[in-house]
Amino acid sequence: MVKKKAPDLMETLVSLCKRRGFIFQSSEIYGGLASCWDYGPSGVELKKNIKDFWWKAMTHRRGDIEGVDAAILMHPRVWEASGHIENFTDPLVDCKKCKRRFRADDVEGEVCPECGGELTEPRQFNLMFKTYMGPVEDSASIVYLRPETAQGIYVNYLNVQMPSRQKIPFGIAQIGKAFRNEITPGNFIFRSREFEQMEMQYFIHPSEDEKYFEYWREQRWNWYLDMGIDEAKMRWHQHGDNELAHYAKKAYDIEFEFPFGWHEIEGIHNRTDFDLKRHIKYSGKDMSYLDPFTKERYLPYIIETSAGADRATLVVLLNAYKEEEVRGEKRVLLSLDPKIAPVKAAIFPLVKRDGMPEVAHRIENDLRKHFKIFYDESGAVGRRYRRMDEAGTPFCITIDSDTLKDDTVTVRERDSMMQDRIGSSHLRDYLREKIGTY
Ligand code: ATP
Repeated sequence: MVKKKAPDLMETLVSLCKRRGFIFQSSEIYGGLASCWDYGPSGVELKKNIKDFWWKAMTHRRGDIEGVDAAILMHPRVWEASGHIENFTDPLVDCKKCKRRFRADDVEGEVCPECGGELTEPRQFNLMFKTYMGPVEDSASIVYLRPETAQGIYVNYLNVQMPSRQKIPFGIAQIGKAFRNEITPGNFIFRSREFEQMEMQYFIHPSEDEKYFEYWREQRWNWYLDMGIDEAKMRWHQHGDNELAHYAKKAYDIEFEFPFGWHEIEGIHNRTDFDLKRHIKYSGKDMSYLDPFTKERYLPYIIETSAGADRATLVVLLNAYKEEEVRGEKRVLLSLDPKIAPVKAAIFPLVKRDGMPEVAHRIENDLRKHFKIFYDESGAVGRRYRRMDEAGTPFCITIDSDTLKDDTVTVRERDSMMQDRIGSSHLRDYLREKIGTY
């Protein structure tokens, strides 16, 4: 609801994200641009790792899904065919007194939740961003920033299927930006106006829709578990008849328990042949599929899995945030799965002399060929550990006076704070085994 105050954890996380270089307000020196966010050094690595984890699970690790990267700008007829021009709207109300705008379904009661003023009647507000292509700003040159990546897959499905020689059932995956002029964005990167989606469309014979719908529900649920998300904070929500999008026969959301309540993180939809039928109608092109074995010609059904990369990043951060007391002091850590942690290991010479920085740099350069590494030689080692705990770095490698004698180093693990003493030539294999692969 509009006036609900975000609990403290969100504020704490937002400030940690700023402090440790994960996420900043866009255009901050100009006072910020509402609901747009920039990812800093740690954030860009974390989000990239999450996207790679998705990409590998959805494409590299299986033979039946191909990737695509379609343009953000598409022919305007696409959005007529998809139903977005007609249906992609939210009901909006304005306060006549303070001029604030709200989604009608977010407002309880008849008056403005901010100032108590009178509200206008709800009107439908289209969420697509409109712009003009070329030098002339007239209605013939209107284009839209895509509000979902899915349409770039539908219009290309035969372009992808033919060269890759895939046979139904097969899928097409895409990661890319989407834009929605949300009426009430907020809760940090949970709902912004520019965001990234990770979508996969699975093309199937219509008779198999129930089977593949259930299959993809299970696959997608497990993907979050594989990333270390606490299952107790996840649940399913099935869309009732009044919630179903115009294209969907059946839809389930995976929800996560955010500090501001349970909300969707991913949708799994049975879109039937709605989109292909509409593109046939609007483009006049045949988009049917000929089964090479049975010779049956038909329009495939589509099971869609639609996740947000930014929302997944928020889930990962919230899931990882921990505070604990260590020897009377508060320790803050991001207990990120090492597979997706932005930096895999930090390298610390204990002191800035006696040849320790030189040895540390040698180890750093060696490991940099394999992992994202951070080098830090300033300040007390305890303070350096704390900084890495907050940034979610799973391993800290310290070079001390013993290293100079026997070439061993201390490896400290973030969550347990346990330390191992190992030979520096074994570091690569040691880290590789502990980090795991995906
Ligand atoms: P919501 O009900 O939260 O507006 P939706 O049902 O419109 O979401 P979909 O159209 O199914 O969402 O989009 C798929 C996924 O894209 C969502 O599960 C979410 O992870 C992500 N997403 C959608 N809108 C936004 C947004 N404004 N900001 C960030 N991520 C978004």
